[in-house]
Order: sequence, then structure tokens, then C-alpha cells
Amino acid sequence: MIGKLNYEEIGLKVGLEIHIQLDTREKLFCGCPTKLVETDPEDVFVRELRPTRSELGEVDVAALLEWKKGRKYEYHAPRTASCLVEADEEPPHELNREALVIALAVAKALNMYIVDEIHVMRKIVIDGSNTSGFQRTSIIALDGYIMDGDKKIGIQTLCLEEDAARKLGEEKNFVKYKLDRLGIPLIEIATAPDIHDPEQAERVAFKIGQLVRLTGKAKRGLGTIRQDLNVSIKGGAKIEIKGVQHLYLISKVVEYEVMRQVKLLEIREELINRCVKEENIPETIHDVTDLFKETRSKIIRKIINRKGHGVYAIVLPGFKGLLGKEVQPGRRFGTELADYARVWGGVGGLFHTDELPGYGISEEEVKRLYDKLGADKNKDAIIIIADEKEKAYKALRAVIQRAKQALKGVPEETRAAHPDGTTKYTRPRPGAARMYPETDIPPVEITEELLREAEKYVPEPVDVKLEKFIRDYGLSKELANAILNDLRLDLFEQLVEKYKDRLPPKLIASTLTNTLKMLKGEGIPIENISDEDIEETLKLVAENKVSKEAIPEILSYIAKHHGTTPMEAAEKLGLTRISEEELDKIIEDAISQNMKIIMEKPEKAFKIIMGTVMKIVRGRIDGKTVAEHVRRKLQEILKNK
Ligand SMILES: [Zn+2]
Repeated sequence: MIGKLNYEEIGLKVGLEIHIQLDTREKLFCGCPTKLVETDPEDVFVRELRPTRSELGEVDVAALLEWKKGRKYEYHAPRTASCLVEADEEPPHELNREALVIALAVAKALNMYIVDEIHVMRKIVIDGSNTSGFQRTSIIALDGYIMDGDKKIGIQTLCLEEDAARKLGEEKNFVKYKLDRLGIPLIEIATAPDIHDPEQAERVAFKIGQLVRLTGKAKRGLGTIRQDLNVSIKGGAKIEIKGVQHLYLISKVVEYEVMRQVKLLEIREELINRCVKEENIPETIHDVTDLFKETRSKIIRKIINRKGHGVYAIVLPGFKGLLGKEVQPGRRFGTELADYARVWGGVGGLFHTDELPGYGISEEEVKRLYDKLGADKNKDAIIIIADEKEKAYKALRAVIQRAKQALKGVPEETRAAHPDGTTKYTRPRPGAARMYPETDIPPVEITEELLREAEKYVPEPVDVKLEKFIRDYGLSKELANAILNDLRLDLFEQLVEKYKDRLPPKLIASTLTNTLKMLKGEGIPIENISDEDIEETLKLVAENKVSKEAIPEILSYIAKHHGTTPMEAAEKLGLTRISEEELDKIIEDAISQNMKIIMEKPEKAFKIIMGTVMKIVRGRIDGKTVAEHVRRKLQEILKNK
């Protein structure tokens, strides 16, 4: 794609659904703490989920697809972070009041209408991520907005819901989950599709996240915020992209999705130009195992030697050259078809003739393939899958259906984001989720008292904070803006509150922004540095145990040596603060060693002594104190000369 796309002309519409974990004391429906644990003792149990027939009758095709896989689920229940509620052996307790109050505060900040009474509902999920087979959710508020410059972005709903269990891993018919995350309160905020360019999507997502963080009650760190995007263009379709974990990926994901839809529309146009029709795409699947008896392709040979396995093929008339067309960086239309084969047939992938000969498949084999299927080498494409017969058939049937949809353009899908911003098909787009009332939890009336309590958490507007940071904390405008836009804004406010008498807020702000950014730029894994590490390090400075110059080195050491405390790091690095008496001793030594030059060129004495001393004490006492002492000592010497 050349140049910048005109998103307005393309008719881009983006809606966001943002999920943010709340840092409440307890989970949404029980008294367990809202923390993830790694090595705590745990109970393990296995379940098969069997939704009742009546429930299944209402489940959409996407959910059924999951359920039909006939999977078993192994649950790891840490005793310190889960109880009988998470195991679905005890009914849920009352809705967590703290979480409700925070949700109400956010709703107010988003100018929303708050409902009179909260009804907890069940939303069926049958991928095993909830032991009960459903997720509990409740609508708190409706119909608000957030401003993006002078543009109003509609907020459709704000829900309070429980987070799902944490997936540990997946084997063939076995999925492992950990129950510590199950039940952590989540605020889910859905915007209207009022967003019209990729950068705006990122900006609005940031603003919403920041607003929730400003309550001081949002969790931070990887996995605590997840963004789903709805993206469509004129003539395309509404595509739901799930699980974007990083803010900076949002604009990229939107950009790539627009690219994909544009390319799929181009493919549609080309197929129409070639007079390809949906009904002309045959549904016949051919067994072509014989053609590959002598193949040099190692993958195919390995597969067809297994019992019940073979090579199966379909013809896509008029598709020649289109399967190799790139739809996203590194992904071709053939990759899109392969996604369907993987999801619906559980196969590893497919080969298509736009990429053959290749992968050990010879030109001769390709020719024989065209001959046997009676296809036209110059016009048609052939897809082959080598696998167990039943799986290959399921996969190829799905590929045929997907190929037919190419004539309509963009099929409605749910997709998952890769770390590079490209996406893959995961399932058809589910219809509106069916909800059932949760009969175990009584409705909660929104009282005046609750609303008053929420008032305490309604975040201060950003411009008010900016003013305060500059006026009261003495930050430069630049630094104030940097910390306002930083994920650790709430940590900054906590630390200022705690240490403002002993540490300048400027130092706290610049540690959280500049220092961490600098370390990251040097390739230091700053994700290993916890909030506690940062606080402990600053505390050492506040207590005069290390100098502020030592902060970057200590944090860098902690990042590289997991589990080290800031004090241990300071000791290891020889950065523990020296006393002023020790400093004087070092200065006196330096002066006596340089006495000759001091006497000859007194105008240079300060620079020389300062340089010598700083080499020894850098990071162990601040430069200002050193300068004062050096100056004083030199004055004494020169005076007595
Ligand atoms: Zn619990």
C-alpha cells in the first residue's frame, strides 16, 4: 500500500471494548484476594463441562465449536487465591461493594446514566475458562461519552464482570487453567463505533484506561488490561479482534485490518472480473494420496506412512495467483484459508499451488495433480492437505466455504491479534451473547449512599492534575505531562503522598519516566522491576542510604538479577552511601596527592580534585555535597598557604 490511506474515504469505523482489572481487596463474588500466585500450594481437579441441552440450544455456533472439541479441563486451585466459589462448589457471595463503587465512579467520569438496580447475569462460556460454564456480568451504566479533542466518542455500556481463569497450557484434548484469576473484578467499557482512524483508536483506548487508573484502583502490568476492537470499512464487514494486550499495538492492528479488508475486496473484484461464481466452486474432495507415493516432500511422506492418513485435494476454479496475494504483512490469502483448515479440521496447515513447486513437492507432482483433477494450470488453484482423512475432510470443507465467501468479500469473523499486529481467524463472529439471570445473587439497588461513596473515587480531570503537578509539586510542564501519560501515574501519586517530606516529587517523577525509559532504551528488562522495587529504591534515597545518582544502577541490577532487593543491589554494586567524614578523608587524600599542581595552578584545583574524588564516590554520595566539601577543603588549604 502506497502512502497514507484516506480512512474517511474508506469509511473506517472502530469500536473499542476495554477490560481493566480492578485492584480491590477481594474478588467479585468471594473473599479471595485479587492476586496471581505462582508457587503457592494448590489442589488439582479435572472436569468435563456439559452445558444442559436447553442452554446449548441458545448457544451460538462459535461456542458450540469449542464444546464439540470434547475437551477435558484440569483446574489448578491455589489455596491462597481461590476457594469453593471458584471451584463452583459453593454459590457466589454478594457482589463486591468496593468494586461496585469504583465502577460507579468511572461511570460518572464517563458521563453515563447509571441503572437503578443491578442484576447479575450469566453469559455462557464453554471453553472451560469458567468452572461454572458461564461468566457473571452486570450492566452498571449506559450511554455516556468521552471527549477526544472536540470529538465526542460515545460510550455504550459499562459492565462489572468477573475475570476468567488463567490458561496455563493446552494439550490435545486437555486444557489447563489456574483459578487465581477467576473472579477478579473487571470493568468492561464499550465505545460506540465512533472512531475513524487508527491513531484515534489508540488515543481513546489510552484515555479510557487512564481514567480508570486515575481512580487509583486499577491493576497494572501485563494482562491487567485487554482491548478488543471492532473494525469495519465500507463494503467490508464488522471484524472483532480479541485480546490486544498492548496499547501501542492498537493503531497497528487497525491499520492491518483495514489493509486486509481492502485486499479481500480487491480479490472479490478480481474473481468477479474472471467470471468466477460461488456455485461454480465444487464441493468435491479428491483423494490424491497415490500421486505422492514417491514424493520427496518429507512432511507428506511422514504423514502418508501413518494408518488412515492421506493427501486430499480440492480445486478452486479461477483462483490462480490469488492465494499468493498478500493481505497483511507476511500473510497471504492462502494463510487466511489455512486458518479455517486449522480451526475447523484441527490440521497443521495446507499447501496451495501458488506456492508450489516447493516444500519438497516437485513440478512433476504439481502437473500430475492438475491432470488428475482436470484443472486448468493457468486459471485454477488447487489446495492439498495431508492428514488423517476425517480431519482433512473437515478442514477442506471449511476451506471451500471460506473460498465461496471470497465472492462476497469480507466474512464476519472473530480474530486474535499476533504480537506484530497482524491477526488470525479464530471463529465465526458470535451473535449477541445470550444472558440468563444469575439466580444465586439478589439484585443490588443503587442507593444515594453508594453514589456518595463513589464520589470519592471519581477521578480528577487531567487538566486539574497537570496544574497541581506544576504548581504544588514543582514539576516542569514537560515532566508533568510525561507522568500524566505514564502507566505508573497512580504509583507516582502514592509515592509523593508517602515521601513528599523527604524526596522531591521531581525525583520520583523522573525516576518513573526518564530513568525507566533510559534503562529500557539500553535493553534492560525493566518489566522485571516491580513497584515495590521502585519504592524500596527511592526509600533508600529518602533514608540517605544511597545517593539519588545510584538509582539507575540499582534498578538496572534488579532487572537483571531477579529477586535481589534494592539494598542488596546497592551493596553488591558498592553504591551504599558513604558518610561525610569518609568523604572528607577521600578529599584530603586526593588533595595531598595533588598538592604540587594545586599550588602551581590554584585556578584548576577545584576541577582536578572534584574529578579525582567523583571517580571514587560516584553514586555513593550526591555531587552537590561533594562539591561543597571539596570547595571548603580547598579554601582551607589555599588560605593557609
Ligand atoms: Zn474465592
